[in-house]
Amino acid sequence: MASSPDRSIVIVGASLAGAKAAERLRKGDFDGPVVLIGAESELPYERPPLSKDYLLGKAERTAVRVHDEAWYAANDVDLRLGVTVTGIDPEGHTVETDDGERLGFSRLLLTTGSSPRRLDVPGADLDGVHYLRKLPDSDALRDVFGHGGRVVVVGAGWIGLETAAAARERGCEVTVVEPQPAPLRAALGDELGGWFGSVHRAHGVDLRLGTGIARITGEKATTGVVTGDGTEIAADAVVVGVGITPNVELAERAGLSVDNGVLVDARLGTSHPDVYAAGDVANGFLPRYGRHVRVEHWANALNGGPAAARAMLGEDVTYDRIPYFFTDQYDVGMEFSGWFPPGGYDGVVLRGSLDEGAFFSFWLSGGRVVAGMHVNMWDDGVGPVEALIDGGAQIDERRLADPSVPLNELAG
Ligand SMILES: Cc1cc2nc3c(=O)[nH]c(=O)nc-3n(C[C@H](O)[C@H](O)[C@H](O)COP(=O)(O)OP(=O)(O)OC[C@H]3O[C@@H](n4cnc5c(N)ncnc54)[C@H](O)[C@@H]3O)c2cc1C
Repeated sequence: MASSPDRSIVIVGASLAGAKAAERLRKGDFDGPVVLIGAESELPYERPPLSKDYLLGKAERTAVRVHDEAWYAANDVDLRLGVTVTGIDPEGHTVETDDGERLGFSRLLLTTGSSPRRLDVPGADLDGVHYLRKLPDSDALRDVFGHGGRVVVVGAGWIGLETAAAARERGCEVTVVEPQPAPLRAALGDELGGWFGSVHRAHGVDLRLGTGIARITGEKATTGVVTGDGTEIAADAVVVGVGITPNVELAERAGLSVDNGVLVDARLGTSHPDVYAAGDVANGFLPRYGRHVRVEHWANALNGGPAAARAMLGEDVTYDRIPYFFTDQYDVGMEFSGWFPPGGYDGVVLRGSLDEGAFFSFWLSGGRVVAGMHVNMWDDGVGPVEALIDGGAQIDERRLADPSVPLNELAG
C-alpha cells in the first residue's frame, strides 16, 4: 500500500472515467478523502451526445452529466473544476495544481483522457475551423449548424461522420473529405466502411474519398478548403475530426512508462505501484489478447474507471473486457465489439441485409470470430456477438451467415 500517511485518493481528470471511479470508491466503502480534479469548468459529463442528441438540440446540458451537482457533496467527493494538475510526484505522493496547491495522495488515478489531433495545413487557425471534444465545442457547432450553410468535415472517422449526420439533419450542405478510399476504413474495412459511406450519400452528403486537405482558405474566417487534388470546396465552417492523442504529458514528466498512452497492467496499475490510469489515456494490458490495447471509447471509460477504483482499494482486479463501441447516425444505430489481431482479419461474414440497413457483420481470423457488429438489430443486440468472441470456437461461416440459425446456438 501507499507509503504516504495521507489516505487521500486523488483522481486527475474529471470526466467519465474519473467520475465513475469516484463513485465506485464510495460504493466500495472507502471513507478517506476523494479529490476529483478537472481542467474543464463543467461538471463531469459524457461526450457521445456532443456529436449526437446534444448537438442536434435534442438533449439538455444537464442530461449529459455523469452525476448531478448535489451528488458530489452528498458523496463527499471534493470536486475541483477549472483546475489543471501541472505536475505529479509519484515518489513524494503529491500533485501540484495551477492554482498553486500541492495535494498529498496515497493512490493516484490518471483519467486525463485525450485531445483532438490538430490539422497541420495552412489556414488551420482561421476562424470557423472547429474541433469537437468539449461541451463548448458542441455549443459552437450547434450554433453554426443552426444557420444552415456549407460545412466541410475533414475526416470520415466516427466523429466526422456523426458530425456530418448532425449537420445534414440541421439542414446544412455537407462535404466530407477523407484521404482513405473508404470511410471508417481502419475501424471496419472497405466493405462496411463503404456501407456507412453509402448511408451518408443517401442523406445528401458529398463524400470525397482518396484525397486530403491541402489548405484551408480565407482571410480571417474560412471560406473553404482546397483538397490534395486541387479541388476547391466552399465552406462557411470546417469541422476537423482526424483522430485523438492521449494526454500523457503528466505521466511522461513523472517518469511513468508511456507508449501510445500510459502503460498499465491488467489491474490498471502503471509502472509506479501507487499510480493507476484508466479511460482513453490508458494503454491497458488485456489478458485475452496477451498485449496492450488502447481503447478510446465510452464503455472503456465507463468500466475502466470503476475497475481502477477497485484495484486502488486492494481488490483483486483483472480488467479484460472486450472493447465495445457504439454510434448513432441518422436512423442507423450500431454497436461493435471486438478487436482485430495485429495481422488483421482474414474474412468478413454478413448476416442480414445491407440494403435494408439491418444486419450483423462478423470479422474472422483463423476461423474464429474476433469482432462483430450489429446495425439496427436490437432484438439480439451485441450480446451474442460477445458470446461468439468469448467462446472462441471455430465457426461454420455458412451457418453464421444464415439468419435462421440462432447466434446463441453458434456461440454454444
Ligand atoms: C464528440 C464525441 C463523441 C463520442 N461518441 C462516442 C460514441 O458514440 N461511442 C463511444 O464508444 N465513444 C464515443 N466517444 C469517445 C468517448 O467519449 C471517450 O472514450 C471518453 O470520453 C473517454 O473518457 P475519459 O474519462 O477517459 O477521458 P476524457 O473524456 O477525455 O476526459 C478527460 C478529462 O481530463 C481532463 N484533464 C486532462 N488533463 C488534465 C490535467 N492535467 N488536470 C486536470 N484535468 C485534466 C480533461 O480536461 C478532460 O475533462 C466520443 C467522443 C467525443 C469527443
